[in-house]
Amino acid sequence: MNTTASREEFDPAALRQRYDEERLKRLRTDGNQQYQEMKGDFSYFLDDPYVEEPIVREPLEDEVDVVIIGGGIGGLFAGARMREAGIEDIRVIEKASDFGGTWYWNRYPGAACDVEAYTYLPLLEELNYMPPRKYCDAPEILKHCSNVAKHYRLYDNACLQTEVQNLVWDEATRRWTIFTNREDKIKAKFVVMVNGPLNRPKLPGIKGIGDFKGHTFHTSRWDYNYTGGNARGNLTGLKGKRVGIIGTGATAVQCTAFVGESAEQLFVFQRTPSGVDVRNDHPTDQEWAASLKPGWQKKRQKDFTAIMTGRGGKRGEIDQLDQFDDAWVEMGKIYRRRMREAGKEVPKSEIGQIYEMSNFEKMENVRNRVDDIVKDKDIAEALKPYYAFMCKRPCLDDRYLPTFNRDNVKLVDTNGQGVDSITEKGVVVDGVEYEVDCLIFATGFEVGTDYTRRAGYNLIGVDGVSLEEKWSKGMISYYGLHTHGFPNCLLIGNGQAAFTANYPDALDEGAKHTAYLIKHFLDNNITRVDTTEEAETAWTSEVVGTKAVTIMGGSACTPGYYNLEGQHDPRARNNQPYGGMMGCHQYFAKLAAFREGDLMPGLVVS
Ligand code: NDP
Repeated sequence: MNTTASREEFDPAALRQRYDEERLKRLRTDGNQQYQEMKGDFSYFLDDPYVEEPIVREPLEDEVDVVIIGGGIGGLFAGARMREAGIEDIRVIEKASDFGGTWYWNRYPGAACDVEAYTYLPLLEELNYMPPRKYCDAPEILKHCSNVAKHYRLYDNACLQTEVQNLVWDEATRRWTIFTNREDKIKAKFVVMVNGPLNRPKLPGIKGIGDFKGHTFHTSRWDYNYTGGNARGNLTGLKGKRVGIIGTGATAVQCTAFVGESAEQLFVFQRTPSGVDVRNDHPTDQEWAASLKPGWQKKRQKDFTAIMTGRGGKRGEIDQLDQFDDAWVEMGKIYRRRMREAGKEVPKSEIGQIYEMSNFEKMENVRNRVDDIVKDKDIAEALKPYYAFMCKRPCLDDRYLPTFNRDNVKLVDTNGQGVDSITEKGVVVDGVEYEVDCLIFATGFEVGTDYTRRAGYNLIGVDGVSLEEKWSKGMISYYGLHTHGFPNCLLIGNGQAAFTANYPDALDEGAKHTAYLIKHFLDNNITRVDTTEEAETAWTSEVVGTKAVTIMGGSACTPGYYNLEGQHDPRARNNQPYGGMMGCHQYFAKLAAFREGDLMPGLVVS
């Protein structure tokens, strides 16, 4: 389905060398320290611009069975699976004004999901909903999240616009107290933390970033009061305005075209180009939709996860691949074709080479696409990604590249070095100051910083030990779900559990297991559940010991958040998912086996 024919005229040795040069050019010793945390003078970047009606209420001092922290897709799954299990007394606490998590915050123009809706959207069969198109945009996803919350009655008793500040365990009553910014003191028998992995936006620590006197915001807090329009474009407020976008990751790839259409002048400041593939969106085939059998969505999600972890059919087969007509699986198709061409008995020693050649071919297609679309040869060259597939988040977009053919749009490529400085008036690269009225940071989210910093709250567990202290050298947990000294507290979607390219799949598995456990505890009058130090040490060692096989990032990749900016962080092995990205199948199977058999042996209950 790629529009560009696969061209074999590439020189593997030259590409290897080029990839290496591009990586080395960008490596910097400050790694994650290069970014500016949104606090102090920069905390206004976190303000919620989407609140329609500020909630006014008295502080709460009450008790519920279960508090879920986070109303994003993970929190929705947790709530849904608990309702299905028959748990009634649930309260979701969410700092935003509504459910949706990442889709609440990321409303920038063009925001949409790159994973097809049939696979990504939660609980389609449960809600009896079929998305109208293969891909859905942010407003549709947000609406769907709200529908899930309604369907499972999660608005009942929810605390929206409420930020958790601290959690304190009380051994005498076996309850957590949750303190919030609204002076609530909510007691809970069980707490489930589902904070999300990309929840805390970050700024680049560029010299002079605080000096800019024009208008500025981060993409995850898009200021439509300034730009006009909405997530579907028509940014009338930008008429006559000079705008700069810093960053060219997946977010910038989606919003740039809309800014380019409306602004008088747009400067796109690039450090590393994204790989931008074909989107291939189309309306849902109604005949296909009518033919689906119950259980189809779970099967489709599992097939997608299998493909993304190299399990999509035996060598040379493409059975599960054909249902996904998109760029995510193209790499898998190329690899299988090359394996078939190599014959029946490919020696194991040659498989790595075949994979590397497939990867070169895939990325050559992506690079050739730039030449096919961007007219100016120098600009086209600067927009080509020279790194392996999945070193950076692949993008599926048909609007971004043509934007660079517009007269009012200028790519300012920084040759891998990033912006030099920011002044009162604009952005400086290579001694040239680009004056702008509005500066938009499409600079992503914190990854690899402390869990409690990203969560925005700390937990004080048994004997006054804080989670921040306990995890200062990296996560220690039992299945990524429990951590010793923090009884009755469960985590979903974190390190030491599973990670999948279609992240909701991993969230749902965590949610199903959590719902199963809490139902068991409540039904059996179990009031205290903790994991032992031995169990969590053993699980942490198993996680650390698993080969961190992942198709995302890696030390040979250009720096970015996938590989912690190319720096070695001793905590990273602890914080990784079980088996890197490839261990999700074993992880899911282990949890399922527990649900079939006895309670998890590393848990102590009373
Ligand atoms: P990213 O972290 O992917 O991108 C940040 C961008 O900022 C990069 O291009 C980075 O360059 C650039 N940058 C950072 N510092 C500087 C600097 N000093 N000078 C110039 N440029 C700089 O964030 P995004 O918000 O784009 O994407 C984050 C994630 O959100 C994605 O990876 C994806 O998981 C998710 N997402 C998902 C979508 C979906 O379809 N479901 C759509 C959009 C986002 P460099 O690469 O060199 O570090």
